[in-house]
Amino acid sequence: MKSLDADLIIVGGGLVGAALAAALANTPLSVLLLEGRPPALDFPADTWDARIYAISRASRRLLTDIGAWGRLDPARLQPVAEMRIFGDDGRAQLGFAAPEAGVDELAVILENRALQRALWLTVNEAPNVRVLCPAQPAALQIDADAAHLTLADGATLSARLVVGADGAHSWVRGQRGIQVAKRPYGQSGVVANFECEKPHRGVAHQWFFEDGVLAWLPLAGQRMSMVWSCGDALRDELLALDAVALAERVAVAGGRRLGYLHQIGKTAAFPLQLNHVAHLVEARLALVGDAAHTVHPLAGQGVNLGFGDVAELARILIAESPQRCGDYLVLRRYERARREPVYLMQTVCDGLQKLFNNPNPLLKAARNLGLGLTDRQSWLKHRLVRHAMDA
Ligand SMILES: Cc1cc2nc3c(=O)[nH]c(=O)nc-3n(C[C@H](O)[C@H](O)[C@H](O)COP(=O)(O)OP(=O)(O)OC[C@H]3O[C@@H](n4cnc5c(N)ncnc54)[C@H](O)[C@@H]3O)c2cc1C
Repeated sequence: MKSLDADLIIVGGGLVGAALAAALANTPLSVLLLEGRPPALDFPADTWDARIYAISRASRRLLTDIGAWGRLDPARLQPVAEMRIFGDDGRAQLGFAAPEAGVDELAVILENRALQRALWLTVNEAPNVRVLCPAQPAALQIDADAAHLTLADGATLSARLVVGADGAHSWVRGQRGIQVAKRPYGQSGVVANFECEKPHRGVAHQWFFEDGVLAWLPLAGQRMSMVWSCGDALRDELLALDAVALAERVAVAGGRRLGYLHQIGKTAAFPLQLNHVAHLVEARLALVGDAAHTVHPLAGQGVNLGFGDVAELARILIAESPQRCGDYLVLRRYERARREPVYLMQTVCDGLQKLFNNPNPLLKAARNLGLGLTDRQSWLKHRLVRHAMDA
């Protein structure tokens, strides 16, 4: 057998693939990270990324342990102290506050590009990680001893394990013919950032409307980021508005809780789809992040689930000898550990989306009653908060 180029090759250097490479830094494993598009590492300080994340406590722990959190600019991090959720009858409310759960913050809001940069810098310093970027794989073959990748430029690479971290439309997953049950929500996530007239005080808001879910997430300073998950008609209407009209539309939709808004940056839209992948591992192959699962963004948990994959897979691989990193039985341990948290998150997000996306008046009364009842059960809220933070 030809000598291997690495113990494992990670295809995809987005947040999840880069985090996995960083989690394996300074271990006996040799790692090759392949990324098709070089990430932007420099951006003007007075601009804000429209793509933001609510990072859970468990994800923050992982990012701290792998050395990426310390590279983030603290001035651009916004802790979430409280979350207020509103039903679609104009009255039902549910609130979560950090002190109720005995913590300082429910999550931390940060920008995609800042986290990508922090991870990329961490990976580039790792002595056992080699980055190939830009690099495009063209063929994948797996035999008993190794996974073999042929790149678009004709180069060949082999390793004991190939990890697909290449997003929701995963090329790696497609090459192996791994089945995916895809269910488009018929919705897009419309995202934009705003400066606000009133301070947000670290409060996140979410409204369930008959035609979608609007989230306002506090951004550092007197700013907020919205994710409006909505059908095609509303998406097109929002995208057609100029900055002034969009700011007014969003401010009114949220009852002017943050006063007048002023849009900063551009509006963007992402189609939303639930992907349920038949299996996460095969001999010499594992899937992580959006390649392994997607969820509706209403709970803001997509990337947190991906970081959960990273923590688990890295823990298992580090505990084994490098020679065993592609063994099916080793990888099955990863798959078994992730099955329940992924399934639970997909079911909860999907269930909520369906529950609130139904015009039946009885269901409408029931869901709003449910919100109000949950609000009055402090033990249940405490458990929900702890679960979301540790997801
Ligand atoms: C509107 C919206 C809002 C969201 N909000 C939140 C939120 O608040 N909180 C949260 O946790 N999650 C959120 N998510 C989900 C989150 O964005 C994803 O879960 C996360 O980005 C997945 O990261 P990933 O690294 O797995 O995949 P990706 O971010 O898709 O990265 C994949 C990487 O692989 C590379 N790649 C792809 N194909 C190849 C190839 N063939 N060869 C080489 N490289 C390749 C790509 O260039 C990319 O860098 C949201 C999603 C949407 C759509």
